[in-house]
Amino acid sequence: MTELMHSLRAQAQSSADESSSRELLAGRGPERARRQVLRSLQQALDRLPPGPKPACAAGCALCCHLRVAVTPVEVFGLLDHLRANATPEGFAALAARVEQTAARVHALQPAQRLATNIPCPVLVDGRCSGYSGRPLNCRAYHSLDLAACETSFARPEDASLGHPQDAAVARVHEGTQAGFLQALRGAGLDAAQYELATALAEALVDPAARRRFEAGGQAFLKAVRL
Ligand code: SF4
Repeated sequence: MTELMHSLRAQAQSSADESSSRELLAGRGPERARRQVLRSLQQALDRLPPGPKPACAAGCALCCHLRVAVTPVEVFGLLDHLRANATPEGFAALAARVEQTAARVHALQPAQRLATNIPCPVLVDGRCSGYSGRPLNCRAYHSLDLAACETSFARPEDASLGHPQDAAVARVHEGTQAGFLQALRGAGLDAAQYELATALAEALVDPAARRRFEAGGQAFLKAVRL
Protein backbone atom coordinates (compact mmCIF):
# COMPACT_ATOMS: atom_id res chain seq x y z
CA MET A 1 0.00 0.00 0.00
CA THR A 2 1.44 3.41 -0.92
CA GLU A 3 1.91 6.05 1.74
CA LEU A 4 -1.03 8.05 0.33
CA MET A 5 -3.36 5.05 0.46
CA HIS A 6 -2.18 4.23 3.96
CA SER A 7 -2.87 7.78 5.04
CA LEU A 8 -6.37 7.80 3.47
CA ARG A 9 -7.24 4.59 5.29
CA ALA A 10 -5.84 5.87 8.61
CA GLN A 11 -7.70 9.19 8.37
CA ALA A 12 -10.99 7.48 7.56
CA GLN A 13 -10.50 5.06 10.45
CA SER A 14 -9.75 7.83 12.90
CA SER A 15 -12.75 9.95 11.78
CA ALA A 16 -15.14 7.00 11.94
CA ASP A 17 -13.88 5.92 15.35
CA GLU A 18 -14.06 9.44 16.79
CA SER A 19 -17.46 10.34 15.36
CA SER A 20 -19.18 7.10 16.34
CA SER A 21 -17.45 6.88 19.74
CA ARG A 22 -18.73 10.38 20.52
CA GLU A 23 -22.32 9.18 20.06
CA LEU A 24 -21.75 6.02 22.06
CA LEU A 25 -19.97 7.76 24.94
CA ALA A 26 -22.78 10.34 25.11
CA GLY A 27 -25.27 7.48 25.52
CA ARG A 28 -27.08 8.27 22.29
CA GLY A 29 -26.98 4.61 21.28
CA PRO A 30 -25.50 2.42 18.56
CA GLU A 31 -28.03 3.41 15.89
CA ARG A 32 -27.01 7.07 16.23
CA ALA A 33 -23.39 5.95 16.02
CA ARG A 34 -24.17 4.02 12.83
CA ARG A 35 -25.77 7.07 11.26
CA GLN A 36 -22.85 9.23 12.32
CA VAL A 37 -20.38 6.84 10.73
CA LEU A 38 -22.29 7.06 7.45
CA ARG A 39 -21.85 10.83 7.54
CA SER A 40 -18.16 10.37 8.30
CA LEU A 41 -17.86 7.99 5.34
CA GLN A 42 -19.56 10.42 2.97
CA GLN A 43 -17.36 13.30 4.11
CA ALA A 44 -14.22 11.21 3.53
CA LEU A 45 -15.41 10.19 0.06
CA ASP A 46 -16.31 13.81 -0.77
CA ARG A 47 -12.75 14.88 0.07
CA LEU A 48 -11.23 12.54 -2.55
CA PRO A 49 -10.16 14.02 -5.88
CA PRO A 50 -12.19 12.77 -8.85
CA GLY A 51 -11.26 9.18 -9.68
CA PRO A 52 -12.11 6.65 -12.38
CA LYS A 53 -15.79 6.25 -13.19
CA PRO A 54 -17.31 3.13 -11.61
CA ALA A 55 -19.09 0.64 -13.86
CA CYS A 56 -21.86 0.29 -11.25
CA ALA A 57 -25.33 1.50 -12.25
CA ALA A 58 -28.89 1.26 -10.96
CA GLY A 59 -30.39 -2.07 -11.94
CA CYS A 60 -27.11 -3.99 -11.79
CA ALA A 61 -27.32 -6.36 -8.82
CA LEU A 62 -24.52 -8.84 -9.58
CA CYS A 63 -22.74 -8.07 -6.30
CA CYS A 64 -26.03 -8.50 -4.40
CA HIS A 65 -25.62 -12.25 -4.98
CA LEU A 66 -22.43 -12.40 -2.91
CA ARG A 67 -22.12 -13.13 0.78
CA VAL A 68 -22.46 -9.94 2.85
CA ALA A 69 -20.77 -9.60 6.24
CA VAL A 70 -22.61 -7.28 8.58
CA THR A 71 -22.51 -6.14 12.22
CA PRO A 72 -25.60 -6.43 14.44
CA VAL A 73 -26.24 -2.69 14.58
CA GLU A 74 -26.35 -2.62 10.79
CA VAL A 75 -28.80 -5.54 10.73
CA PHE A 76 -31.17 -3.71 13.09
CA GLY A 77 -30.71 -0.45 11.21
CA LEU A 78 -31.52 -2.08 7.87
CA LEU A 79 -34.49 -3.94 9.30
CA ASP A 80 -35.94 -0.77 10.85
CA HIS A 81 -35.46 1.05 7.56
CA LEU A 82 -37.20 -1.72 5.63
CA ARG A 83 -40.07 -1.90 8.11
CA ALA A 84 -40.58 1.86 8.04
CA ASN A 85 -40.66 2.03 4.26
CA ALA A 86 -42.58 -1.10 3.24
CA THR A 87 -46.29 -1.78 3.03
CA PRO A 88 -47.50 -4.58 5.35
CA GLU A 89 -47.70 -6.87 2.30
CA GLY A 90 -44.24 -5.82 1.13
CA PHE A 91 -42.76 -6.45 4.56
CA ALA A 92 -44.43 -9.87 4.79
CA ALA A 93 -42.96 -10.77 1.39
CA LEU A 94 -39.54 -9.59 2.54
CA ALA A 95 -39.81 -11.71 5.71
CA ALA A 96 -40.66 -14.77 3.60
CA ARG A 97 -37.67 -14.16 1.30
CA VAL A 98 -35.40 -13.68 4.30
CA GLU A 99 -36.57 -16.95 5.84
CA GLN A 100 -36.09 -18.88 2.58
CA THR A 101 -32.68 -17.39 1.89
CA ALA A 102 -31.49 -18.00 5.46
CA ALA A 103 -32.56 -21.65 5.21
CA ARG A 104 -30.59 -21.95 1.97
CA VAL A 105 -27.50 -20.35 3.50
CA HIS A 106 -27.69 -22.52 6.65
CA ALA A 107 -27.84 -25.64 4.46
CA LEU A 108 -24.51 -24.85 2.77
CA GLN A 109 -21.00 -25.47 4.03
CA PRO A 110 -18.80 -22.33 4.38
CA ALA A 111 -16.88 -23.05 1.16
CA GLN A 112 -20.13 -23.68 -0.74
CA ARG A 113 -21.55 -20.35 0.45
CA LEU A 114 -18.63 -18.52 -1.13
CA ALA A 115 -18.99 -20.47 -4.37
CA THR A 116 -22.75 -19.97 -4.85
CA ASN A 117 -24.69 -17.00 -6.17
CA ILE A 118 -27.53 -16.38 -3.72
CA PRO A 119 -29.74 -13.33 -4.31
CA CYS A 120 -29.98 -11.06 -1.28
CA PRO A 121 -33.54 -11.19 0.12
CA VAL A 122 -33.61 -7.38 0.21
CA LEU A 123 -33.56 -7.26 -3.61
CA VAL A 124 -36.87 -6.39 -5.27
CA ASP A 125 -36.99 -6.43 -9.07
CA GLY A 126 -33.20 -6.37 -9.19
CA ARG A 127 -32.85 -3.33 -6.94
CA CYS A 128 -32.00 -2.90 -3.26
CA SER A 129 -35.26 -2.16 -1.45
CA GLY A 130 -33.31 -0.88 1.56
CA TYR A 131 -30.78 1.20 -0.32
CA SER A 132 -30.36 4.08 2.13
CA GLY A 133 -30.22 1.63 5.05
CA ARG A 134 -27.78 -0.80 3.43
CA PRO A 135 -24.74 -2.00 5.40
CA LEU A 136 -21.20 -0.66 5.09
CA ASN A 137 -19.98 -3.64 3.08
CA CYS A 138 -22.71 -3.07 0.47
CA ARG A 139 -21.69 0.58 0.23
CA ALA A 140 -18.03 -0.41 -0.17
CA TYR A 141 -18.61 -2.77 -3.06
CA HIS A 142 -17.89 -1.16 -6.42
CA SER A 143 -16.23 -2.11 -9.69
CA LEU A 144 -14.50 -0.35 -12.56
CA ASP A 145 -15.21 -3.19 -14.98
CA LEU A 146 -18.66 -4.66 -15.58
CA ALA A 147 -17.25 -7.48 -17.74
CA ALA A 148 -15.10 -8.65 -14.80
CA CYS A 149 -18.18 -8.72 -12.55
CA GLU A 150 -20.12 -10.68 -15.16
CA THR A 151 -17.31 -13.22 -15.46
CA SER A 152 -17.17 -13.66 -11.66
CA PHE A 153 -20.94 -14.01 -11.54
CA ALA A 154 -20.86 -16.70 -14.22
CA ARG A 155 -18.14 -18.63 -12.37
CA PRO A 156 -18.76 -18.11 -8.63
CA GLU A 157 -16.73 -21.21 -7.80
CA ASP A 158 -13.55 -19.54 -9.12
CA ALA A 159 -12.17 -17.56 -6.17
CA SER A 160 -9.26 -16.28 -8.27
CA LEU A 161 -11.56 -14.00 -10.26
CA GLY A 162 -11.90 -10.41 -9.14
CA HIS A 163 -12.66 -6.95 -10.42
CA PRO A 164 -10.75 -3.65 -10.41
CA GLN A 165 -11.67 -1.03 -7.83
CA ASP A 166 -10.79 2.59 -7.20
CA ALA A 167 -7.99 2.14 -4.65
CA ALA A 168 -8.65 5.42 -2.83
CA VAL A 169 -12.38 4.71 -2.48
CA ALA A 170 -11.62 1.18 -1.27
CA ARG A 171 -9.15 2.44 1.39
CA VAL A 172 -11.68 5.00 2.68
CA HIS A 173 -14.30 2.26 3.06
CA GLU A 174 -11.84 -0.08 4.76
CA GLY A 175 -10.73 2.60 7.19
CA THR A 176 -14.29 3.69 7.97
CA GLN A 177 -15.34 0.14 8.73
CA ALA A 178 -12.27 -0.46 10.89
CA GLY A 179 -12.96 2.72 12.86
CA PHE A 180 -16.60 1.83 13.41
CA LEU A 181 -15.72 -1.67 14.63
CA GLN A 182 -13.15 -0.12 16.96
CA ALA A 183 -15.79 2.22 18.41
CA LEU A 184 -18.32 -0.60 18.89
CA ARG A 185 -15.74 -2.78 20.64
CA GLY A 186 -14.65 0.17 22.78
CA ALA A 187 -18.25 0.57 23.93
CA GLY A 188 -18.45 -3.15 24.79
CA LEU A 189 -20.89 -3.90 21.97
CA ASP A 190 -20.99 -6.94 19.69
CA ALA A 191 -18.86 -5.96 16.67
CA ALA A 192 -18.73 -9.45 15.17
CA GLN A 193 -19.56 -9.92 11.51
CA TYR A 194 -22.53 -12.12 10.63
CA GLU A 195 -23.91 -13.30 7.30
CA LEU A 196 -26.67 -10.87 6.30
CA ALA A 197 -29.62 -13.16 5.44
CA THR A 198 -29.24 -15.41 8.48
CA ALA A 199 -28.81 -12.40 10.78
CA LEU A 200 -31.90 -10.69 9.34
CA ALA A 201 -33.84 -13.93 9.81
CA GLU A 202 -32.86 -14.19 13.46
CA ALA A 203 -33.58 -10.51 14.11
CA LEU A 204 -37.03 -10.95 12.57
CA VAL A 205 -38.10 -13.92 14.70
CA ASP A 206 -36.22 -13.19 17.92
CA PRO A 207 -36.72 -9.71 19.44
CA ALA A 208 -34.31 -10.77 22.20
CA ALA A 209 -31.44 -10.46 19.69
CA ARG A 210 -31.67 -6.67 19.85
CA ARG A 211 -31.95 -6.69 23.64
CA ARG A 212 -28.88 -8.92 23.90
CA PHE A 213 -26.97 -6.57 21.63
CA GLU A 214 -27.98 -3.44 23.55
CA ALA A 215 -27.01 -5.13 26.82
CA GLY A 216 -23.51 -5.83 25.47
CA GLY A 217 -24.04 -9.52 24.76
CA GLN A 218 -23.74 -11.61 21.63
CA ALA A 219 -26.61 -10.45 19.43
CA PHE A 220 -27.15 -13.53 17.29
CA LEU A 221 -27.07 -17.13 18.45
CA LYS A 222 -28.12 -18.87 15.22
CA ALA A 223 -26.99 -16.57 12.41
CA VAL A 224 -23.87 -17.61 10.52
CA ARG A 225 -20.88 -15.93 12.15
CA LEU A 226 -18.11 -14.95 9.72
S1 SF4 B 1 -28.71 -5.08 1.33
FE1 SF4 B 1 -29.14 -4.12 -0.65
S2 SF4 B 1 -27.11 -3.53 -1.47
FE2 SF4 B 1 -26.75 -5.05 0.17
S3 SF4 B 1 -26.64 -7.06 -0.87
FE3 SF4 B 1 -28.78 -6.74 -0.20
S4 SF4 B 1 -29.86 -5.83 -1.97
FE4 SF4 B 1 -27.62 -5.59 -2.31
